[in-house]
Amino acid sequence: VLEIRDLHKAYGQLEVIKGVDITAHKGDVVSLIGSSGSGKSTILRCANLLEDSQQGEILFQGEAVKWKGDGMARVPADAKQVLRIRTNLSMVFQQFNLWAHMTILQNVMEAPVTVLGRDKEEVEAKARLYLEKVGIGDKCDVYPAQLSGGQQQRAAIARGLCMEPQALLFDEPTSALDPELEQEVIKVIKSLAEEGRTMLIVTHDMKMAADISSHVVFLHQGLIEEEGAPDRLFGAPKSERLKQFLSSTV
Ligand code: ATP
Ligand code: MG
Repeated sequence: VLEIRDLHKAYGQLEVIKGVDITAHKGDVVSLIGSSGSGKSTILRCANLLEDSQQGEILFQGEAVKWKGDGMARVPADAKQVLRIRTNLSMVFQQFNLWAHMTILQNVMEAPVTVLGRDKEEVEAKARLYLEKVGIGDKCDVYPAQLSGGQQQRAAIARGLCMEPQALLFDEPTSALDPELEQEVIKVIKSLAEEGRTMLIVTHDMKMAADISSHVVFLHQGLIEEEGAPDRLFGAPKSERLKQFLSSTV
């Protein structure tokens, strides 16, 4: 579904992604781990075309992103393509970004109705279904401030799902939560994995990564240092950096 080839990204002189390849086939759950500043969030933002990159290819459902210009000046060439990719590749941010002045139901319905132009009644039915699915079906008519952190995060996930995307990108979906709320969100993500949704998840939570991933990528300073199946990667890490990283996170 999603393929990133030889991605390079710099902020001015600072090269933060130095040639990264990541492939997620249908139903894959790929976790990105690595220390702070290693480039995890940047990769998600590049994949979702929220961020330009200088080199490399991004393919979504076999369709390569078209660029214009080159090097530092490269930008996506086709606005329709960008919209198509973004709507099929929902991103759930670390800070849930819910609209404070809209109810939870309105938040979840907003993009499918205004961006995709879908029928309001159909979207409402789906929005209720997804809110039910993430366990907050009774919170449709309240405002974000009236929800706990875990409930807000689940609302943000329902909003991502309501776009019915081919794939979901998560940037540290559990990092803002206390352990109990974290478990709620992990359960939701796990159930999505079991449904065969394609997901790319940035996380600091090694237990979650071990639990739900089909593939784990360990980044170090903008490069993939090691990757593999979770059992192998966590059970028998090869690189010294990964060993050190794992021992510092447990
Ligand atoms: P964390 O675990 O702390 O979220 P990360 O792996 O997600 O870290 P990124 O946010 O991808 O790291 O950042 C990678 C590097 O890019 C960092 O060195 C950061 O300082 C730099 N960086 C990120 N965003 C910008 C920006 N807008 N302008 C300049 N540099 C940036
Ligand atoms: Mg980050």
